[in-house]
Amino acid sequence: MADKKKVRVRIAPSPTGLLHVGTARTALFNYLFAKKNNGDFILRIEDTDKERSEKKYEEDIVESLKWLGLAWDEGPVRQSERTEVYKKYLEKLLEGGHAYWCFCTKDDLEAQRESQMTNGHAPKYSGHCREVSLDEAEKRLGSGKDAVLRFKVQEKEILVKDVVRGKVQFDTSLLGDFVIAKSFDEPLYNFAAVIDDHEMNITHVIRGEDHLANTPKQILIQEALGFDRSEYAHLPLILAPDKSKLSKRVGDLDATIQSLKKHGYMPEAVLNFLLLLGWNPGDEKEAFSLEESVKKFDFKKVQKGGAIFNEEKLNWFNSHYIREADIGRLANMAKEFVPKEFADSSMFEKALEIERERMKWLTDFEELAGLFFKLPDYPASKLKWKTSDVKTAGKHLEKVLGIMEESLGNGLEGRVMEYADAEGRGDVLWPLRVALSGQEKSPGPFEIIEVIGREEAIGRVKEAIKKISK
Ligand code: GLU
Ligand code: ZN
Repeated sequence: MADKKKVRVRIAPSPTGLLHVGTARTALFNYLFAKKNNGDFILRIEDTDKERSEKKYEEDIVESLKWLGLAWDEGPVRQSERTEVYKKYLEKLLEGGHAYWCFCTKDDLEAQRESQMTNGHAPKYSGHCREVSLDEAEKRLGSGKDAVLRFKVQEKEILVKDVVRGKVQFDTSLLGDFVIAKSFDEPLYNFAAVIDDHEMNITHVIRGEDHLANTPKQILIQEALGFDRSEYAHLPLILAPDKSKLSKRVGDLDATIQSLKKHGYMPEAVLNFLLLLGWNPGDEKEAFSLEESVKKFDFKKVQKGGAIFNEEKLNWFNSHYIREADIGRLANMAKEFVPKEFADSSMFEKALEIERERMKWLTDFEELAGLFFKLPDYPASKLKWKTSDVKTAGKHLEKVLGIMEESLGNGLEGRVMEYADAEGRGDVLWPLRVALSGQEKSPGPFEIIEVIGREEAIGRVKEAIKKISK
């Protein structure tokens, strides 16, 4: 059997902003495809644009991918460190007559454009400098003239069998000779990406549909250099709820992984949500762990049409995973969102165990669980049950206090319930719960006692009785 090439894919973000959810979705699909095929997933930082690239954004990309758990096998490879490699290939293209120096100024280009438009042609580079010989070009460069490198586009049809989109046909006569480098030291995206995909033995280019238009340009460069063509898979665009292209913001959120993290989303919820942005499991089940996703992932179920960012769904996944998570792990994550006294308290995990049922975001915990750490102030009137009055509440609390003081072991709940069943559950349990929580809505009284402990509970009931007798 012939050796099948090892699958190698890459995520290639430009560090010109925080990691966008669209790029994270692309990273996930690359990761899933790599793992499913025992292949490699590579991180490449496309930082050729010196003006717009920033180290802090590269750090954010690395942090965000780590937070999501999308571990890469190689990298980060930085394009800014590979200038010599690109130079070698630029020279090769020049010598082979596939590229040439263009000396047109901005004004020249504008004039060419205008004349094309008046003649009813779609504007593209006119090919004006194609005929400048390499010798002549080098002379001009030597005399300090500015120039860029353009690729000499061969006019032809290119057929791409895209894994998601099926056959896509391109007519390269529409492209015009495009710029591949601003100088030998400043290669541009389409060129640098082709070189790297080749040198890194990338077998499948999986990326957003917004890059579909770059594909014929990249294939032309590959062909000129005699490189193999990789497979292509262009993922559907992510759309805002109004079906516009998802930009920087969606609802209350910035469409970045960092913003989702700060908002109190769990990484597994974000991953699961991203998984369904363009991929359909084909049955009812929607909650998938990363391992399950690897097993199930299949490009056949990736849709062509845009995928809508549905915040409700993201929230649903988040509540789901908050409830499912290992409590120790959840606690570690939730600690980032609470005051230090909460985080350091021995009650922290128990309180979280109870409150996680009601949490949509990790950020909800502080407010929901505040009552465990400090009894909120409340008026005595809150202690009275619907049909009853404050005095009666006080009487029941005295009785319950007695039971609490006597029961040291597990008997407490049973004995209080026995009393409550005899006197009316609302009449007994309502004031007890308010005494313990200071709130109209809270977990049940025995859950609260479980967290704060018997002594603190007794103190709170005494405080309630004092409020009533004032
Ligand atoms: N740097 C490009 C981006 O961030 C990568 C495109 C590609 O995957 O080829 O969109
Ligand atoms: Zn020119």
